Amino acid sequence: MAQPQEPTFRQSVDLMFNRAVGLMDLSPGLEEKIRVCNSTYTVRFGVRLRGAIHTFTGYRSVHSEHMEPVKGGIRYATSVNQDEVEALAALMTYKCALVEAPFGGSKGGLCIDPREYQEHELELITRRFAYELIKRDLINPSQNVPAPDMGSGEREMAWIADQYARMHTTDINARACVTGKPLNAGGIAGRVEATGRGVQYALREFFRHKEDVAAANLEGKLDGKRVVVQGLGNVGYHAAHFLSAEDGAKVTGIIERDGGLWNDDGLDVEEVFQWIRANGGVTGCPAGRFVPEGAKLLEAECDILIPAAMEGVINLTNAANIKAPLIIEAANGPVTAGADEVLRQKGCVIIPDMYANAGGVTVSYFEWVKNLSHIRFGRMQRRQEEGRHQILIDELERLSSDKELGWTLSPGFKEKYLRGADELELVRSGLDDTMRIAYQSMREVWHSRQDVTDLRVAAYLVAIGKVAASYRAKGI
Ligand code: NAD
Repeated sequence: MAQPQEPTFRQSVDLMFNRAVGLMDLSPGLEEKIRVCNSTYTVRFGVRLRGAIHTFTGYRSVHSEHMEPVKGGIRYATSVNQDEVEALAALMTYKCALVEAPFGGSKGGLCIDPREYQEHELELITRRFAYELIKRDLINPSQNVPAPDMGSGEREMAWIADQYARMHTTDINARACVTGKPLNAGGIAGRVEATGRGVQYALREFFRHKEDVAAANLEGKLDGKRVVVQGLGNVGYHAAHFLSAEDGAKVTGIIERDGGLWNDDGLDVEEVFQWIRANGGVTGCPAGRFVPEGAKLLEAECDILIPAAMEGVINLTNAANIKAPLIIEAANGPVTAGADEVLRQKGCVIIPDMYANAGGVTVSYFEWVKNLSHIRFGRMQRRQEEGRHQILIDELERLSSDKELGWTLSPGFKEKYLRGADELELVRSGLDDTMRIAYQSMREVWHSRQDVTDLRVAAYLVAIGKVAASYRAKGI
């Protein structure tokens, strides 16, 4: 957690914003308009559980409505507070602008430890919270569309979608009121993995640029890189899994709430994940050496550090000890503004949260579009695409049967080429494209301007520029 002498999460986001706008030529009025959070709604509601009424507190904050609907997850954690949801809502505004998802920024939170409740209790609480937000249009397909965040997932999103549909029985677009739903309840293939997948695509793109890799004092490719991950939840697990299973990275450290695990040869991510599911933590897991003070592993020797749990974990108390030359912020706000400065001075390259974890909102955007269009991606063109490929295959087979030409098709080519893209492939392709283009827009600013020395400022410059253009177009 951030130390008391450090700014709060929201102040930290504002400080980073200010560092960027200092390099821009915005009118002071517009600068202020973009920075401030438009509104935060606090709701306190009672739910009868276990024979007594329990009161819960929740928030929905709207940072910027330069585009609507506004978008942002709903977090379930006891640490949720107004400052935090406002910081997260602001980050959503910038994130959506950076990856060109046509949304304003919002975020919600419910002060609750979901592990303390049974499933039917969580459903009652979620439905009541959703009811409070829906009746004020703080959940609405055209105004405000939540998604999962820390402590919430597909199950909660399905309850929210159903609650909305019950309250808007004739709204044909009801399913678009929330994203991150299960596939059978209007979700999209690849949403659960999307944020972690986006972290993988972000790192792949980073490693495509030799100059950027050299700036982090690294060389080569992702293959063989030593990775430390904090938080093996939705984002951390998928990032660690894909990086180790598909890119040859070695996950040497995993940090969870109850401690950390270390293995110089690389941990078996799947084994650790299953252990956590069964036992609630990493304690006792035979995959690696147990380190009781898990957070110490943030300071361990590695090539890439992936904080994927929560905000403020890299702060003034440990920033100077961080050895990773490259940090990718899979969580929102894991590096405080103070720590950011210390790390920059050390030459550490930070791939900022606004970009690094944008995979979630990107695929949420695809899901929202799917819900509004009422058709699965690929349904119209897949077989047509296969038919066209078949024509080419037939021709190639005809030529390869000509003994004089001496041609043969490579093994597996026909099957691979013939198969038209299904929804999952299209989603991954759209996500990959988004992550590549957004990275390139940041690095162009990073390398072309003398006064821009890091990717975070570059990300803010690109994002704020887009939000400002949108406000100007509206005549504000
Ligand atoms: P999650 O609840 O699925 O997982 C969080 C994990 O972190 C859990 O395994 C938890 O045990 C662990 N954890 C919590 N506190 C910890 C601590 N102090 N030390 C070590 N581990 C700790 O949450 P998530 O959805 O993976 O979200 C993680 C982060 O990613 C959050 O900052 C969230 O805002 C951000 N994020 C999530 C999404 C998404 O699609 N889920 C999208 C963008 C950003």
